[in-house]
Amino acid sequence: MDNEANNEVKPAHFIRKVIADDVAAGTHGGKVLTRFPPEPNGYLHIGHAKSICLNFSMAEEFGGACNLRFDDTNPEKEEDEYIESIKADVEWLGFQWQEPVHFASDYFDQLHAWAIHLIEQGKAYVCHLSADEAREYRGTLTEPGKNSPHRERSVEENLQLFEQMKDGTLAEGECVLRAKIDMAAPNINLRDPIIYRIRHVEHHQTGDKWKIYPTYDFTHGQSDAIEGITHSICTLEFEDHRPLYDWFIENLPVPSTPRQYEFARLNINYTVTSKRKLKQLVDEGHVSGWNDPRMPTISGLRRRGYTPVALRQFCEMIGVTRSESVVDVGMLEYAIRDDLDKNAPRAMCVLDPLKLVITNYEEGREESLSAPGHPNRDDLPERELPFGREVYIDRADFREEANKKYKRLVLGKEVRLRNAYVVRADEVVKDEAGNITEVHCSYDADTLGKNPADGRKVKGVIHWVAVHNCCDVQVRLYDRLFSVENPEADKDKSFVDFINPDSLKVLEHCKAEVSLGRAAIEQGYQFEREGYFCLDSDSSDEQLIFNRTIGLRDSWAKQEQQGQ
Ligand code: ATP
Ligand code: MG
Repeated sequence: MDNEANNEVKPAHFIRKVIADDVAAGTHGGKVLTRFPPEPNGYLHIGHAKSICLNFSMAEEFGGACNLRFDDTNPEKEEDEYIESIKADVEWLGFQWQEPVHFASDYFDQLHAWAIHLIEQGKAYVCHLSADEAREYRGTLTEPGKNSPHRERSVEENLQLFEQMKDGTLAEGECVLRAKIDMAAPNINLRDPIIYRIRHVEHHQTGDKWKIYPTYDFTHGQSDAIEGITHSICTLEFEDHRPLYDWFIENLPVPSTPRQYEFARLNINYTVTSKRKLKQLVDEGHVSGWNDPRMPTISGLRRRGYTPVALRQFCEMIGVTRSESVVDVGMLEYAIRDDLDKNAPRAMCVLDPLKLVITNYEEGREESLSAPGHPNRDDLPERELPFGREVYIDRADFREEANKKYKRLVLGKEVRLRNAYVVRADEVVKDEAGNITEVHCSYDADTLGKNPADGRKVKGVIHWVAVHNCCDVQVRLYDRLFSVENPEADKDKSFVDFINPDSLKVLEHCKAEVSLGRAAIEQGYQFEREGYFCLDSDSSDEQLIFNRTIGLRDSWAKQEQQGQ
């Protein structure tokens, strides 16, 4: 992380306070061990980044460590690809988990032994109610549940049945193992929750060893306890599960006593943050893949040109609270713009090329001009700018006629080519259809790095690249993936109905300055006067592709102001 961010005073959010108090009081032996527990059923998104930043930075700050644990209790959904992508994303964000990587499935033997322990203590039983019956017996928020007719089975019978569940001699769905807590508890999670189900499926890590699988609730807290996690930080939807989390910790001979703390999940407007929905976007081909630069996934943001510094900065900015809110995507955009403004080398790229011929510049002559790598970063190397008789400028930077507000090139008027000379437009060349194909100019040779000698004022500055020495590149312009703030709000429509049809625009044959021919994948640049761009991983020696990360200014805010 850069030094500047390190020196900032960190906001005193409640989790930081809880941990600081625990460390000061010597709770958990004064140690801090957190964990990030993704389910390997998709790629991580910006919401996960918030959780990663929180868990890893709390550990870092208090001299502790953070575990990476794959929550792989659901045997069908896990895939290697997801596991690898999750590890890559955490590392890319700049965090290092404590080795080794853990899997909840590492603890299946221990969890099974603890299930038997509960049965032996008379605190768990095998229940044969069907799913429908179980729902009926569970009661509602206002009415207590009823005891299952199987609740008073003997320890021996329960042990025998549980063994049969494990052996695979009972069919899927035939029965479940439930904790015996309290069917009248106001918190429904305590009404004899299921702790084991029969599933005759192979598991990614354990193969065909198990025919029964523990539920998330029976796994999570105990995994925390086995690893010695001190602060188990999760999102608010687990708040109602905390009494159950604590019940298992209290009723099992676990080696440590972790505590669970909840915070509000990150929601951002103009996007969706649910792995299931993101997977749908991928599976239905609305985007090119999980790392499509329009996706709010960490890998998509990365490919788009977001940096770890910007994402971490964003996560600090939004803070950690217990109240649900929707963060404006503008904040995320602010974070990347701020980072790239400070750190991205500058370059010129003409997106819609129009040829300018400098008629009083000797034919065949070539010059090598130079430009700063960054206006206030001397450590970034100067760029070499080839200059010659013909240059490209952007079509939008020339008009045959214009009023005074237009500070670019106008027929008969002057403009400065950035980091080069002042030119005057003398003549336009058009094709049969009346389209401008060339602009003929003359240059003032005495204006390199200085104003015209006779005191003429030239206000406009435009970017350009030399025709004889530039790179032909493809540029991909991205806009928000959804055209409405909350694509999930309409109950009668699917979120995919709100995909912004203009979220990707591909420009071919843009002309980039030669320094961009050496760009590295993901390295961000400011294309002067255009925005921030980075080299896309689809690029090859034959075809360079640049993604627009973000514009120079917030064009959406501007549109809203103008009421458009
Ligand atoms: P999704 O709904 O996208 O599938 P999830 O909660 O099921 O998310 P997990 O893989 O179980 O995904 O999440 C791993 C960790 O990341 C959990 O601790 C979870 O609370 C946290 N997390 C997930 N989404 C968010 C979010 N939007 N904001 C903050 N933390 C999140
Ligand atoms: Mg989950």
